[in-house]
Amino acid sequence: MSKRFLFAALLLLTSLQVFSAEVSGFRVWADPVKTRAVLDLDRKTAYKLFTLQKPHRVVVDLTGSSVEIPLELDKEHAGVITGVRYGNPDKDTLRVVFDLSESTDLKSFMLDPTAQYGHRLVIDLFTKSGEQKSTLVKYVTDINEPDRDVVIAIDAGHGGEDPGAIGKKKTREKDVVLQIARKLKKTIDSEPGMRAVLTRDGDYYIPLRGRYEKARKARADLFVSIHADAFKKSSVQGSSVFVLSARGASSEFARLLADSENASDLVGGVTLSDKDDMLASVLLDLSQSATREASNKVANDILGALKRTGKTHKNHVGHANFMVLKSPDVPSVLVETAFISNPREEKRLTEKEFQQNMARAITRGVRDYFYSSPPPGTWIAANRNGARHIVARGDTLGGIANRYSVSLSKLRSANKINGDVIHVGRELIIPTS
Ligand SMILES: [Zn+2]
Repeated sequence: MSKRFLFAALLLLTSLQVFSAEVSGFRVWADPVKTRAVLDLDRKTAYKLFTLQKPHRVVVDLTGSSVEIPLELDKEHAGVITGVRYGNPDKDTLRVVFDLSESTDLKSFMLDPTAQYGHRLVIDLFTKSGEQKSTLVKYVTDINEPDRDVVIAIDAGHGGEDPGAIGKKKTREKDVVLQIARKLKKTIDSEPGMRAVLTRDGDYYIPLRGRYEKARKARADLFVSIHADAFKKSSVQGSSVFVLSARGASSEFARLLADSENASDLVGGVTLSDKDDMLASVLLDLSQSATREASNKVANDILGALKRTGKTHKNHVGHANFMVLKSPDVPSVLVETAFISNPREEKRLTEKEFQQNMARAITRGVRDYFYSSPPPGTWIAANRNGARHIVARGDTLGGIANRYSVSLSKLRSANKINGDVIHVGRELIIPTS
C-alpha cells in the first residue's frame, strides 16, 4: 500500500468519524444459499467485520454509531442468524453481534439510498452447506430423456430487500407475485408433459441475471416473469405481456416501466457491469432471433388467454428493455398481472380467486404455445396429435384404456392421475401406445 493511499484512507476514516451515524432499521432475508442482514443507516459510515467461533458469531463494529430503534430479529426469515445483540464497547463504536447456527463465509457492502431505502450496510452470510442445499440441481432435465416434459421457469419478481411496487393499502408486489407464481407452478405441474420450476420460492432477492441463469441451468424451455404494474394514474388497469424489445424501449411508458423493474437490482445490491452487458449483447445477436420469435409467439398466446379471462391493459404485446428477459436462448416473457396502483386491482391481486384465474390463464397460453410449437423430443411433441376422450357419465379409467388399447398406467401418467377417480367432462389425452 502506498503512503499516499494510506493517508487518504486515514483521512476518509477520520472524516466519517466526525458524523455519528445512527442505525434506524434492521432486516433479514434467507434464500437457499445465504442469509442477508441489512442495517439501515442515516448516513455512510466506516465499519469493521469479523467472525468468532465456538459459538459461531459475526461481529460488526460501526464507527460512531448508535441505535435509534431496538434491533429485533424476524425469526421467520432469519436463516442462520439465531440472535442479535448490540452495545458500545467504547463511546465511538456501535458493536452488533449476530449469533449464528453454523460457520459462514462473509460478504459485506454499503448501498446508496434508493426510492425505498436510505443508506444501508448489507452483510451476506454464506453457509458451507448452502450450495448443496440449493434446490435447483434436482430440477435439471436430461434433454436426451425420451418424451421429456417441457420445463417452464416461473420467476416471481422482486423479493427480500426489494418489495417491488406498493399499493395504497400497502400490498407489496413481491408478496402477491410469489403467491401467483406458486399457483401457476401448481396448474402447470398438473398439465401432462409440462413441469415448472420457481426461480425463488421465498421472500428473498435474486439478481436479475441470476434469474434467467437459473432458468438456463434448469434447461427451461420458457421463462415467465410475474409482476404487478404501477403507474402514477390510479385509474390505469389491466394485465399486460411484455417481451424484450429489439432496440430498447418502444414507448415512453415501456421505458419508465423498464427503469422501475430494472432498478430492483440496485435495491437488491448488485449493480450490472457494462462488460457483462456487452457480452450479453453479443450473445443476444447470435442466437436471439429464434428466441425472439418464440418469445413473441408465446407472449401472444398468453395475452390471448388473459383477454378471455379479464381486462387487459393493451390489445397487443408490449416491448421493453427488461434485463430479466435478456436470456439469449430461452424464450422469455414478462406478465404484469394487474396494476397494484389501481385500488380495485390491488384488492384483487390479494384474492385467491384472482390469483388462481391468472395462473389458469397463463397456463392456457403456455399450453397453446407448446402444443402449436413443441420442442422436439418432448412428450407434447409425441402426443399433441393423439386422440382425446371427454369423460362421460359411466366411464371408468379401465374402460377407456381398453377402448383405446393403451395400458392403464400410461393413461394415468399421461393425464397425471393417481388412483381411479375421473370427473365427467374432463378431457383425457390418449397417449400413443
Ligand atoms: Zn415488478
